[in-house]
Amino acid sequence: MNTLNWSELSFGYIPTDYNIRCVYKDGKWGEIEATTDTTISLHIAATSLHYGQEAFEGLKAFMGKDGKIRIFRPEENAKRLQNTCDGIMMPKLPVELFMEAVKKAVVMNKRFVPPYGSGASLYIRPLLVGTSAQVGVKPADEYLFVIFVTPVGPYFKGGFQTTPVVILRQYDRAAPLGTGTYKVGGNYAAGMLAGEKAHQMGYSAVLYLDAKEKKYVDECGPANFFGIKNNTYVTPESTSILPSITNKSLMQLAKDMGMTVERRRISEEELATFEEAGQCGTAAVISPISKIDDIDENKSYIISKDGQPGPISRKLYEKLRAIQYGDDSDIYGWNAVIE
Ligand SMILES: *Cc1c(COP(=O)(O)O)cnc(C)c1O
Repeated sequence: MNTLNWSELSFGYIPTDYNIRCVYKDGKWGEIEATTDTTISLHIAATSLHYGQEAFEGLKAFMGKDGKIRIFRPEENAKRLQNTCDGIMMPKLPVELFMEAVKKAVVMNKRFVPPYGSGASLYIRPLLVGTSAQVGVKPADEYLFVIFVTPVGPYFKGGFQTTPVVILRQYDRAAPLGTGTYKVGGNYAAGMLAGEKAHQMGYSAVLYLDAKEKKYVDECGPANFFGIKNNTYVTPESTSILPSITNKSLMQLAKDMGMTVERRRISEEELATFEEAGQCGTAAVISPISKIDDIDENKSYIISKDGQPGPISRKLYEKLRAIQYGDDSDIYGWNAVIE
């Protein structure tokens, strides 16, 4: 344990002490329990396995200079999970239960929260799966909610950096009225092949266009998209993207910095006009984009001429990180603080 090199950790799975569980059965949620068992035993006809009745969340806890642990906006994750539950016919997990379980998962694995200054954090992964048997396509009667945590290293090991992304027109991630607004594993399975192709070609992610017209920007595989121009933060309005809590936070911070914030459709052509652009999500906060290639159309949008992140992206990134680590005051009460 003391041999963990926090700043060298990657985004992998490192075993921790406990995971938290709660079972839904006979129409109600049971008690929150902690276990050291990292496996689950599932019926071979469980709905999560056959019909993708599965949802997850992702959030982080940070160790402050003051020795307090801060969990970033867990209530937002609780509400988003409820929305996902509605979308794929799972019973809604009460927000209070989610909050209690997240805090318990962090407290019981306290020794795995990376120290202040390492740039690392504790990743928290809540998971909700249909566990009971159905052969016909119907929602399960029983569910298992699990939370595990694992320490993750700093996203940018060599400092805040840009990467290129790619538009691959032969793939879609989510349909306009499909499950794109829900955090379900199925969307990730749908994007795996395109993501793998993008990586093989040296891109960090696929930038998906809307599946219907292939005209408007949706999001990057597991992260939202934003562009910056004329002191304006622009991010897509779409019925097929996941509402990112990082994006929501950045929109607030951009407003506080005196910027205009616009949530609207972004046409592909508009990409040529951005002074800065980035992917945003829990993993990186912001991953700035250097260029966007539309391979099939033989187009390339150069966002950063010198390959460096832009000043506004950097400022937003540093501000959000400072709030998460407790260096700056948390005026909106975003952090759930564990004393
Ligand atoms: C989780 C996720 C995001 C990022 O959301 P955050 O709440 O900021 O971590 C963006 N897009 C997709 C598809 C996601 O699943």
